[in-house]
Amino acid sequence: MKPNTEEILALIDNLKKEDIDIINRAYAFAKKAHEGQLRKSGEPYFNHVFETARNLAELGMKAKTVAAGILHDVIEDTDVTEEELEKEFGSEIVSLVKGVTKLGTVRYKGIERKVENLRKFFVSMADDLRVLTIKLADRLHNIETLKHVRPDKQKRIALETLEIYAPLADRLSMGRLKGRLEDAAFEYAYPKEYEEVKKLLMEKKDAKERYLIEVKDVIIEKIKEAKIKNAIVDYRQKHLYSLWKKLQKYNMDIGKIYDIIALRVMVDTVADCYHILGIIHGQWIPVPNRIKDYIAMPKANGYQSLHTTIFTGTGGIVEIQIRTHEMHHNAENGIAAHFVYKEKGSNQKMDPKQLEWITQLKELNENEEEHKPEKFLEHIKMNFFKDRIFVFTPKGDIIDLPEGSSPIDFAYAIHTDIGNHVQGAKVNGKNVALGSKLKTHDIVEIQINKNTNPSSKWLDYAKTGLARREINAYLKGHSLLSKFLSFGKN
Ligand code: MN
Repeated sequence: MKPNTEEILALIDNLKKEDIDIINRAYAFAKKAHEGQLRKSGEPYFNHVFETARNLAELGMKAKTVAAGILHDVIEDTDVTEEELEKEFGSEIVSLVKGVTKLGTVRYKGIERKVENLRKFFVSMADDLRVLTIKLADRLHNIETLKHVRPDKQKRIALETLEIYAPLADRLSMGRLKGRLEDAAFEYAYPKEYEEVKKLLMEKKDAKERYLIEVKDVIIEKIKEAKIKNAIVDYRQKHLYSLWKKLQKYNMDIGKIYDIIALRVMVDTVADCYHILGIIHGQWIPVPNRIKDYIAMPKANGYQSLHTTIFTGTGGIVEIQIRTHEMHHNAENGIAAHFVYKEKGSNQKMDPKQLEWITQLKELNENEEEHKPEKFLEHIKMNFFKDRIFVFTPKGDIIDLPEGSSPIDFAYAIHTDIGNHVQGAKVNGKNVALGSKLKTHDIVEIQINKNTNPSSKWLDYAKTGLARREINAYLKGHSLLSKFLSFGKN
């Protein structure tokens, strides 16, 4: 089917004339720029950027971000220059596209220890959270079309998705996106386990579903009796990858997992949530220690819901999740829900109620000022980093150092032998003093000379414990050696 903007426009709420205009222009521009380019699958490259934009619209992002999604590969993969793009679409879109291009340099190399660094670094690269959502939407389409990629690359991309992208989606509380990323990657990252979990799920699903339907019908009846308005009762199946992670905790015993399929009740108000919990506990016996109040005590990523698990009385056990429609929307779309309000325009007041979930984030509890959306990224960043900087080797490896670190610290972080023979350093291609302070995103190159050795002066430059230890060890060994040598002379 031939893509057209109608499909995307239909997904955007409160569509305005300028929204239609920018998306149509981005569509035409990207289509022309990617003309003749094909993907591994043989389909036009344009389909990829179109699907990325569709993912963004589905996530609830507004027109500008969606347009940047259509344009996200033009600087990197076509002849279009930054200047041309800026002339056509303005600086905001250019900075979003540039941000996404920059993120493309991050690579997961399968070193466990560095994963958390890489995640943090990833966020530090994005000056704007919208850049992260575009990158996530881009990755979602790539991972869902991974079958066309060379097998040896499939595994790397799948692992990178599970280790870097999905946890980020989770931190941004984009639950639906996280689930889709994980399920698409699971198959390629761990094919044997994927098949095993799928089989386990198939065996259990029907029996589980039967109990669920029993309970569902009774709940709908009781809600009617209680005259609770606008309630929606449905159920969701646990994503395969999160099921696998849970199974690992329970020795792969699927009988111990109660939320393979969970019933979901969504209502208008928090009071309705507790009312329904009361109705449920009046009707069925709850399983002890399985009642969780994430409304009063939200999870760290802002997730809110009441969870309970009940004995159906007919041999089954069913988990029920109760939340407001708004909590549901936020759990599914997370940070995207927040941008809906940001992009409405600066002259429009934000609805504080809509931003409530943000205020529920643990990190945002301290300071009133920080509830403002523009402070939000800053805050997330601070929490991710504390006082760390992230710098590159010339090959693109990421080195994580404390703030105030110098090229000497960098050299020792790579290897003692490199540290012990530093002769000079270049930062972003320019010679710098060994004591200069590095900044996040610097590319640092160390020149070594086997005849150069640490001097006590270096201790003034070294911030990390590692560098200081190594320098001291060298100096101590060296002074003992010179004593020994001069002793021998006598
Ligand atoms: Mn792309």
